[in-house]
Amino acid sequence: MRAEPVLYDCHMHTPMCGHAIGEPDEYAAVAEARGLKGIVITCHYPLPSDWRRPRMTEEQLPEYIALVGRTREKWRGRLDVRLGLECEYAPVLESWLERQLARIEPDYLLASIHPIQRYQELYWTDDPCAAHRVYYEHLGAAAETGHFDAIAHFDFIKFMVRAEWDPGHFRHDIQRALDRIAAAGLTVELNTAGLRNRLKETYPSFWILKEMKKREIPVALASDAHQPEHVAWAFEKALDTLAKAGYTHVSFFLERRRQEIAIEQARASLT
Ligand SMILES: [Zn+2]
Ligand SMILES: [Zn+2]
Repeated sequence: MRAEPVLYDCHMHTPMCGHAIGEPDEYAAVAEARGLKGIVITCHYPLPSDWRRPRMTEEQLPEYIALVGRTREKWRGRLDVRLGLECEYAPVLESWLERQLARIEPDYLLASIHPIQRYQELYWTDDPCAAHRVYYEHLGAAAETGHFDAIAHFDFIKFMVRAEWDPGHFRHDIQRALDRIAAAGLTVELNTAGLRNRLKETYPSFWILKEMKKREIPVALASDAHQPEHVAWAFEKALDTLAKAGYTHVSFFLERRRQEIAIEQARASLT
């Protein structure tokens, strides 16, 4: 007999951000087939126009909330569909962010930094090492805003590989960011999108996961799906990795409150 569904995938997108494909319905169908109990849809929140990125517009936010609401109703009793948002963090975005967040009552708020062009213009100099440091400094600052439940793809910057960016060089910056995240009580995701790109490695890297465990930072599983087939991507492998790092439980958020389940139980529930 199949084990009871218990696990949530806490990070996925909708076509409203302009760079993901598939309707939420299709993501839900994959989640059900994989044995998940639920999904948290966390599309990218609107950005000011000078950030020049494909995102939903400020005017579209109510449409996004309605889209997730309709999916939630349709799947009620089969799969628990929840409303979340992935928020781009940068110090200059704080008041903008507060305005957006006043318009939504989500189950889950993720903070992430994609060092996109506008971010680079604002914060990067010619020194690539300084770029790396400011990224981790900003992740710590994001945790301390008090707005977020979790940090998305913690070491995303490693994807923008440069020869100078051996993470060992930034061990201290990474540890300081984790200290701030732990002190602020945030969760960090184990994001399997990294396994789909050329690095073939989760965000964060294994040594960072062990640093997180030392600080007892909870972990949420995240596929960061930008198409339906990505839902619950490599979750078996992610749960094994988590156990290897010393974790016994995995977390997710409902109504902004962290829930946790045993890794073994989560593992047995996947199909
Ligand atoms: Zn995206
Ligand atoms: Zn994402």
